[in-house]
Amino acid sequence: MSDFKFYHPSGRIYRPKLWLIDLDDTLYSASAGMFHDIHVLMDDYIQSALGVSSQTANLLRKEYWQRYGVTFLGLWLHHGIDPVDFLTKTHNVDISSVKTRGLMRQSLVSLPGKKVLFTNAPNHFAERILKKINLRGVFQAKYCVNDMKVFGRWCPKPSAAMLQKVLTNHGIRPTEACLIDDNLCNLKVAHQLGLQTVLCKGWHHHGTEIVKPINYVDAQISHLRDIPKVLTRRQESKNNKRLRKLPMQNPYD
Ligand SMILES: [Mg+2]
Repeated sequence: MSDFKFYHPSGRIYRPKLWLIDLDDTLYSASAGMFHDIHVLMDDYIQSALGVSSQTANLLRKEYWQRYGVTFLGLWLHHGIDPVDFLTKTHNVDISSVKTRGLMRQSLVSLPGKKVLFTNAPNHFAERILKKINLRGVFQAKYCVNDMKVFGRWCPKPSAAMLQKVLTNHGIRPTEACLIDDNLCNLKVAHQLGLQTVLCKGWHHHGTEIVKPINYVDAQISHLRDIPKVLTRRQESKNNKRLRKLPMQNPYD
């Protein structure tokens, strides 16, 4: 089976100054097999660290992922597990079969504006993947999960506070930025903050067929090479009205 599915791009975005670009299942296929290996290591780690059964470890991993968007945050908040140790040991997987396709590097390089990698993957893993798929040197900045802290607290995606911190670091207003991600939760929070949003769906589980408009998704693509088909340089004044109330989710409540 192919690790990529093509759908016709839809929607429209206006040329941003800053692109925030996800890694897993946005730039290559992670869910086609490698995620399974990571999940097995996570279950083993949780089982050993908490002294629970493999079934309980599996349930906890899924529950925390659904609740917080990342498993490690639940393990840290509720069990005091060191996120760096957890992420380092559970991402030590074989990536020899990882690949991307469709002139990904050229697609990224040709995007007008600043490119920032914005991923919940740990640093060392992201670097290995970028090297494997020949994307090193493409991004002007990288925010991996090790960097996802605000005032000393872990704030991985879909944290609005972390998004705001990245924008502030680069002197960019929300309406001047665009998030490209395969995860709808991440896109929803970005939209609530005022960013433009692009759902990248060609890699996720061999393609996620979402064709109907989603009110917090401005454009849908299968591959980064589709961006020029949904991009316009026209500045839309109405876009400035998109600034919304800061979203609500606070894992520390
Ligand atoms: Mg992803």
